[in-house]
Amino acid sequence: MTARKLEDQPSRAEASPSEVVIVGGGPIGLELAVALRHHNISLRHFETGTIGQTITQYPRQVRFFSSPERIALAGVPFLTAHQEKATREEYLSYLRAIVGQFGLVVETYRRVVEIAEEENGFRLEVVPSVETAHDPAALVDDPAMPRESVYADNVVLAIGDMHYPRLLGIPGEDLPHVTHHFTEPHAYFGRKLLVIGGKNSAVEAALRCHRAGARVAISYRRDALPEKSVKAWLLPDVRNLIKSGQIDFYPETEPVEIEPGQTRLRHVTSREEITVDADFVLAMTGYRQDPFLFEKCGVRLIGTNARPEVSLETMETNVKGLYVAGTAAAGTQGKFKLFIENSHPHVQRIVQAITGKDAPFETRDTSRIARGLPEN
Ligand code: NAP
Repeated sequence: MTARKLEDQPSRAEASPSEVVIVGGGPIGLELAVALRHHNISLRHFETGTIGQTITQYPRQVRFFSSPERIALAGVPFLTAHQEKATREEYLSYLRAIVGQFGLVVETYRRVVEIAEEENGFRLEVVPSVETAHDPAALVDDPAMPRESVYADNVVLAIGDMHYPRLLGIPGEDLPHVTHHFTEPHAYFGRKLLVIGGKNSAVEAALRCHRAGARVAISYRRDALPEKSVKAWLLPDVRNLIKSGQIDFYPETEPVEIEPGQTRLRHVTSREEITVDADFVLAMTGYRQDPFLFEKCGVRLIGTNARPEVSLETMETNVKGLYVAGTAAAGTQGKFKLFIENSHPHVQRIVQAITGKDAPFETRDTSRIARGLPEN
């Protein structure tokens, strides 16, 4: 379909509105699409990048923390060749298979830039988005590109929660040897790497880069790596390497300035500064959600994580006909976390609310500890 300029767009009356538009082609967006298609709901489905876009930004060959059966979708078994947790690559293949098996139509590299409530539904504006060659996280829009107006009775935002890195806000953060996206341990072979942060991403990156031949140092703002937050199989490994001097650990420090080849750290209580040699800096400081689309259409955001307010029965927001699915429902992740494994019930709730019928497959929370949303 060729997109046209806004003024040339058909009106709502001329265009035939879809019953549902799903925004976001991640696992839960795809699972929801399968269920809605099963009930013959007319659907359009947009994704800013490719399917599973957030997962494409994970480091190569990283393994999911969740067991395969917990992240399986739409009742389709997900088996790994080694009976271990799945790699990024295996799960992306599985997502492609889900799209193929159910004949899903996901309009990839199409960014929704506007959602407006109208009488009897919503109008969305959609523009093409292109992936930049070197930074898959940076999806840019060409302002010259025409928009398409799309109409829908209901909208589901399954937009995820890792849109932007949590920035340090210090001089030098934008230098070319500094990144918030860990993609490839091999890149640091034989070089000095400073990892900033002390939770799962930081520890996992430190371990992998150490084993890929980097000389790794970790700067963490607390006095010890947090036992409750770092996975049980990562913590003893990194502690042993720190103890034996193979990884350097700078507890209670924060970076204050990054320069080519070195980074200045400050002790959080004594305020003393030290300079650490670092050819590369990996700032594993977490990610935040872009609340742009919620704000566009008047969804109330609550709490420190700016979580969209939803009904726990239906996942409908304070805007009638507008739903949230998947990790997006947690806002920027904090204490109450949503993952793929405990977001499956969102599919059942939304399908019930829109069609009055059940999802055609099991949608229970497969996490060991249900840590979904708190009560509103
Ligand atoms: P995170 O849990 O938010 O941790 C961010 C780290 O950066 C924390 O240690 C935090 O310190 C530190 N930090 C934040 N802002 C900082 C600042 N301004 N200056 C210095 N330090 C700062 O993020 P994450 O480790 O990327 O994990 C995000 C999610 O992905 C988690 O749910 C995690 O379990 C998951 N994950 C999954 C995998 C996998 O499946 N293989 C791998 C990695 C992560 P504090 O500790 O003081 O808050």
